[in-house]
Amino acid sequence: MKKILIGGAGGFIGGHLTSTLLEKGHAVRAVDIKPVEEWYQSFPDAENLVLDLKEKENCYLAAENCDEVYNLAADMGGMGFIENNKALCMISVLINTHLLMAAKDKGVQRYFYSSSACVYNAARQMDTDNPGLKESDAYPAMAEDGYGWEKLFSERMCRHFREDFGITTRVPRFHNVYGPHGTYDGGREKAPAAISRKVIQAQMDGSDEIFIWGDGLQTRSFMYIDDCIEGIDKIMYSDIEEPINLGSSEMVTINGLVDIVEEIAGIKLKRNYQLDAPKGVRGRNSDNTLIQSYLHWEPSISLREGMKKTYEWIKEEMTK
Ligand code: NAD
Repeated sequence: MKKILIGGAGGFIGGHLTSTLLEKGHAVRAVDIKPVEEWYQSFPDAENLVLDLKEKENCYLAAENCDEVYNLAADMGGMGFIENNKALCMISVLINTHLLMAAKDKGVQRYFYSSSACVYNAARQMDTDNPGLKESDAYPAMAEDGYGWEKLFSERMCRHFREDFGITTRVPRFHNVYGPHGTYDGGREKAPAAISRKVIQAQMDGSDEIFIWGDGLQTRSFMYIDDCIEGIDKIMYSDIEEPINLGSSEMVTINGLVDIVEEIAGIKLKRNYQLDAPKGVRGRNSDNTLIQSYLHWEPSISLREGMKKTYEWIKEEMTK
């Protein structure tokens, strides 16, 4: 049994990770800036603390006596949020900086940092027919402005803390994660949750139309949360020192994602494309050659299967 700190435990991925680590019998210190009532999931078996991890002293408090640290805390959201809140996104650099310092000084054995596909060079993502982003495509750097640059800088800080201070760091680049117990409205939601909500709302209102950001032809891949949690565990205990993709390689257009949700809902809606809405890059997919070579594994839950569970959870929440 280990003592494990999860920063951002009140968030989507942090909640699922807390649940899994508790099930494995670890002692979890779950930390988030939000009041516990607002966490997506909270567990009485964990030590739940409300702390702002941008503050150095709070990071030292949180890391006390911990064997491992997972840093999932960040001010983030979908395209609508990160395109309009670049400064806020960059301030998350304080969380990783102070948590790394605390981890080093408190003798933490392993440190996990959640990076993102938003570190990749924009020039590699201009085409809908994306062949898959390889880890080396992050350089020369031209990351997503704000959020992506913070992630790229923090990745490098993990590397230098490992090289200079000997702390073991693990850094996956998550590609769009989705699933139950996450955000689906309010402005921080991502495409799978937003489209599910819009389709459910149309059904509830008896409407026959849906608004889609962009022309619907932009491509992405989406990883179901169970694959993400399994990948986090595999990468944390692997020998993989450099940043590595953790994402699905099942690329889909946004129109294709809407098709899947409509099919699950048993409805067909008229599509209104909002061409001036935040769209992000034109095409993005995960190249999984490296993770396959290290782990002989990659995320494999199909979008159809994951979206069914996500859709059902959001529908339950919206009709409560
Ligand atoms: P989330 O927003 O649901 O969770 C992040 C949590 O961090 C939130 O609960 C938030 O309150 C907390 N937080 C923010 N500032 C904090 C602070 N100063 N102190 C303490 N807690 C603070 O996001 P998520 O989807 O669970 O993402 C987790 C991590 O994975 C983030 O670092 C995110 O950038 C990264 N990531 C996520 C995705 C994705 O698709 N979900 C993709 C790439 C990277």
